[in-house]
Amino acid sequence: MTLLGHPDEDRPPEPDDASPASRANLLNHRNAERYRRAVTDGVEQVAQRLSQVTQPATGVSVPELTTEFTEIDLDRPLHDPSSALDELERVYLRDAVYFHHPRYLAHLNCPIVIPALLGEAVLSAVNSSLDTWDQSVGGTLIERRLIEWTARRIGLGPAADGVFTSGGTQSNLQALLLARDEACAAVRRESPSVPRSCDILPRLRVLTSECAHFSVAKSAALLGLGYEAVLSVPCDEEKRMRTPALAAELDRCRGEGLIPMAVVATAGTTDFGSIDPLDEIADVCERAGVWLHADAAYGCGLLVSRRRRLLAGIERADSVTVDFHKSFFQPVSSSAVLVRDRETLRHATYHADYLNPASSAENLIPNQVDKSIQTTRRFDALKLWLTLRVMGADAVGELFDAVVDRTAEAWSLLDADPRFEVVTRPQLSTLVFRYLPSAEASPELCDRVNLHARQSLFDSGAAVVAGTTVAGRNYLKFTLLNPETSLRDISDVLDMIAEHAGMAELEELSRSRVS
Ligand SMILES: *Cc1c(COP(=O)(O)O)cnc(C)c1O
Repeated sequence: MTLLGHPDEDRPPEPDDASPASRANLLNHRNAERYRRAVTDGVEQVAQRLSQVTQPATGVSVPELTTEFTEIDLDRPLHDPSSALDELERVYLRDAVYFHHPRYLAHLNCPIVIPALLGEAVLSAVNSSLDTWDQSVGGTLIERRLIEWTARRIGLGPAADGVFTSGGTQSNLQALLLARDEACAAVRRESPSVPRSCDILPRLRVLTSECAHFSVAKSAALLGLGYEAVLSVPCDEEKRMRTPALAAELDRCRGEGLIPMAVVATAGTTDFGSIDPLDEIADVCERAGVWLHADAAYGCGLLVSRRRRLLAGIERADSVTVDFHKSFFQPVSSSAVLVRDRETLRHATYHADYLNPASSAENLIPNQVDKSIQTTRRFDALKLWLTLRVMGADAVGELFDAVVDRTAEAWSLLDADPRFEVVTRPQLSTLVFRYLPSAEASPELCDRVNLHARQSLFDSGAAVVAGTTVAGRNYLKFTLLNPETSLRDISDVLDMIAEHAGMAELEELSRSRVS
């Protein structure tokens, strides 16, 4: 059967005689061939595009790309997948930011492994929804095995459980929801008169480091606690939570009649890749009787790496966030929240008569919706399943280790380069640094030239880097997640940055001398 490239086969498929044309677009037993053809053509187009990518971005501007959309009328379909793909080439594929390119060094986006992509193709075609057994069957068991596997890698113990989520943000939200409701339950147990939730909630506090992900604060707001409920614990020079400061803050809360409902430790901060001292924090939480949530959205790749010891103490957490779509080389989305005690997941349970009646739980029918804050839910677990079944966990760990090794080398490069200043020595795979202008430059000029360098680099499309601030000043950031990024790539990008920043600096200095 020829699928591609023959001119006579490029015609749009004829609608089936027995059914209106619109039905030709439904995936079913009759249209299996159309499905095969449309998807194969699409894959072919993407594969061709990938083979032509020579830079991570094109630097297309918003106005430029916006004009490509003006002729598109969403109420006038093209009736033909190949025309739609041609259009897509212009509005999306041509100028997309390609994370697999070795000079894409910006955010926590990884190149993805092919077995996972195969999983993505299968799961979207079968389109199982993992809320109930009667919508997923084997899918539910696959997800459960992966949760078990992950919990065992973490070391959470025999009562562990969890569920796949849409991402670290949702995982953190769910973990804090469980922690909140556990804290409320504890208050009720200890109070002679049963207090109302509205009396407890304003007293709840979440403690996390100043380098924690913003989704912790957002979760507190969503959970009815307000942003102010999150107390920020200072970090040491290595950007790790200071445990004595945490202990002091917990004491202060208790002294003021507040209820610390959770400590969030980060295993791989988004900016610095720093890992909070998990064991020490677990000691403090144990003594204080506070829920410990470990946000390993980024650092979870260590679970399969030869650096597993960097996560020592994570096995003592009450809940853990892992983002497979960050350090397991999985396509977006693939994430999970794990808990030490499966009983705590009851706070996410709601029995709906039409979907998961209480009787189904009694009959031991496994309905994943009982554990999730989502209802209809993608079978994202399949991607990790095929990854483990095809490549194995060690192979994933090797990829992540290569990235961490490369980052350590890149740090040495930066540290020895007088043009730059680098903030911390990395534990994982980020580097926060800045270009240093000449001694006479003001801190504001330093900020501006670094911002300028980042933007110019993006505009050129030659490389993509991120930015952040440290103590109110602008810095640049590399996030390395591509084992194909060489030290040469890194030194080339540093040269480009120095060139863009140096030009901006010269321009500013000469302008200030003139005026
Ligand atoms: C990325 C990240 C998150 C958020 O995860 P998403 O998958 O983007 O929702 C949470 N915590 C940390 C530490 C992260 O790096």
